[in-house]
Amino acid sequence: MACTAIVGINWGDEGKGRMVDLLTEAFDIVVRFQGGGNAGHTVINEYGKFTFHLLPSGVIRPGIVNVLGNGVALDPESLLREISCLQEQGISITPDNLMISDRASLLLPWHRKLDELEETRLMDKKFGSTKQGIAPFYSDKYQKKTVLTGELFYPDRLRQSLKDLLEWKNLILTRVYGADPVTERELDAWLEESCEPIKPFIKNTRSYLREAQEDQKRILFEAQLGTLRDLDYGIYPYTTSSNTLAAFAPIGSGLPGAEISRIIGVVKAYSTCVGEGPFVCELFGDEADRLRRLGGEFDDQTGRPHRVGPVDLVATRYGVQVQAATEIALTKLDVLSDLDEIPLCVRYRLNGQEIDEFPFPAALDHCEPVIETMPGWKCDISKIRDWWNLPPEAKSYIQRIEQAVGRVVRWISVGPERDAIIRRG
Ligand code: GDP
Repeated sequence: MACTAIVGINWGDEGKGRMVDLLTEAFDIVVRFQGGGNAGHTVINEYGKFTFHLLPSGVIRPGIVNVLGNGVALDPESLLREISCLQEQGISITPDNLMISDRASLLLPWHRKLDELEETRLMDKKFGSTKQGIAPFYSDKYQKKTVLTGELFYPDRLRQSLKDLLEWKNLILTRVYGADPVTERELDAWLEESCEPIKPFIKNTRSYLREAQEDQKRILFEAQLGTLRDLDYGIYPYTTSSNTLAAFAPIGSGLPGAEISRIIGVVKAYSTCVGEGPFVCELFGDEADRLRRLGGEFDDQTGRPHRVGPVDLVATRYGVQVQAATEIALTKLDVLSDLDEIPLCVRYRLNGQEIDEFPFPAALDHCEPVIETMPGWKCDISKIRDWWNLPPEAKSYIQRIEQAVGRVVRWISVGPERDAIIRRG
């Protein structure tokens, strides 16, 4: 049976988590295929408000099996924290509803430390890392200098590999960064406290998924971040260190030959960019403050403001193309309800010429947005559940986006709650 993927079209934070939570009503299995505990997928439903970092956003629905695929950065410490937070909120996470691929690589105790040290060294040239160790983890994975979760069941081999890695990493920690080394005792404590408890969840998920597919189970792949943060197709080097594209989902999930028949691209009704990097459509001053306030675009932990802008049709069209999205979920439309006029970035101006194609990353620094406006609808749409009841101005705005990206907007969210959604046939 063919699979479905839910992916971010923009810079991340599009609302993928809420779409996964909603659409899992029609699935049996959800698989996270890349990224790590640096995600922040917020889900609000009848059970409460939840934020998922590493766990797939399907864990709230009873009966769904959630899989952490081989492509993720498996950080056992942050996973255990997340599981215990959810358990405090009354959500049960057991080996029946969570499986970890035995081929997922472990984020090791020094990865977070190295991430912090490197961001500090870079000072004002920093990349805006979330300091969760993701970049050092993926570079080590590709250097074959980490271990697979399945190796936790081979203690002799594991101990020897970790000893060799520790020796090498301590040279870097102490001689490159002048930091304290990681001790064997710390490593033992990490194995005991963080790795032992995750062992019951570790399985050959490739076999599990293959059998599930043969049994006609419905499988959903869930991405973290968005197209523009993809390592190969994003705004390099201001990307993440993994592939956020649907094309990578089969590889990172454990079903390398899987066919994906539906790719649901999540687009925000305006733009936000958390972290560094070029952001052509960025708004500043009062206009930015207003949009930020309306959208609640502040960091949950630090309260730091997110960068905001109008919907960027150039970047969104590119996102739809490289994701090969078959349909769109448009989120946070309610946020624009107060605006008299809705701005849209329709093209970029580069070297005196207007362009429609998303350019090479280095050229983005020289691009300016070409802004057009459409009339606002100036009324509360958060209770609307039917396309025909939307104000004509809101419909025109959605149709303008559809026309620009060449895909149908099949879902429109008008509030953060699970049921604040308009479905189109
Ligand atoms: P993700 O990482 O792509 O899942 O997105 P995030 O969860 O980081 O960011 C989306 C934010 O917008 C969350 O705080 C959601 O609760 C909120 N949200 C999602 N959809 C809507 C919506 O339709 N309206 C409003 N007002 N908020 C929404």
